Amino acid sequence: MKQITAFFLSFLLMALLFSGCAPAQSATSASEQTLQIVSTIFPSYDFARSIAGENAQVTMLLPPGVESHPYEPTPQDIIRIQECDLFLYTGGESDAWVDGILDSLETPVKTVKMMDCVEVAEEETVEGMQVEEEADSHEEHAYDEHVWTSPQNAILISQAIKQALCEIDPDHAQTYQDNSEKYVAQLEQLDQDFRDFFAGVSNKTLVFGDRFPFLYFAQTYDIPYFAAFPGCSSETEPSAATIAFLIEKVKEENIRTIFYIEFSNHKVADSIAEATGAKTALFHSCHNVSAQEQQEGATYLSLMRQNLETLKEALD
Ligand SMILES: [Zn+2]
Repeated sequence: MKQITAFFLSFLLMALLFSGCAPAQSATSASEQTLQIVSTIFPSYDFARSIAGENAQVTMLLPPGVESHPYEPTPQDIIRIQECDLFLYTGGESDAWVDGILDSLETPVKTVKMMDCVEVAEEETVEGMQVEEEADSHEEHAYDEHVWTSPQNAILISQAIKQALCEIDPDHAQTYQDNSEKYVAQLEQLDQDFRDFFAGVSNKTLVFGDRFPFLYFAQTYDIPYFAAFPGCSSETEPSAATIAFLIEKVKEENIRTIFYIEFSNHKVADSIAEATGAKTALFHSCHNVSAQEQQEGATYLSLMRQNLETLKEALD
């Protein structure tokens, strides 16, 4: 009799326990099985999915086609950051909102900040650029956040992501190591291909009728450049002096192609092209992808390879 009672009691207890945690379990079971990685923008999202492979679900907060600079997180984004295993962000001006969220978390989240993975460079203004008055009056210059535009930096960032994955999920460390080696080899090949290409070009000067978020790319391959606006500028209307300067440069240096960046209305590039007889072409900065690019399976590697092909058309 005692045994039966004991059995019955323990059964009751078990039933209570299970019913008590059943809703919570069903809500989290999916995310408990797979590692959750959250990234603010496209490059770190893409590096992470290449290295994590099937062991993680990687989410990008920025919806496809959305400009990253004015982006503000939704309440859902904050929950995602709170609940993820690894959070990837840039660490620059455009995701300055991240710090406040990370500070407010009760349980800290493991992070990889792209700007911490590389040697950062100060934002640069070159001759002819239209600079915002507000930015111009800043005594100290901020660091340029577009670190991923150099394939060499992409390698460093990918390795930092691999390291973080090995720490939070040591059971799959070998997989992350293998995936990372394969991925880094492709980035190295990309870097070498850019190097080989630029070595054979007589005038490497690039002219952007747009913002110029390619400082690290330009530094890596030692490329002179002129542009309408600095990298993260919110300006879209260049002064007559800026336009005149760029037109003059294009004529002086016999530039055949004026570049614009993704999600741009390319009006400035068009007007310079019109005045000089040059062509226009897209040079992708990989901040984010459009819905169509996403559907077509665009990656950092495919977009940068497309940039290389564009350069082959544009430069002699
Ligand atoms: Zn930017």
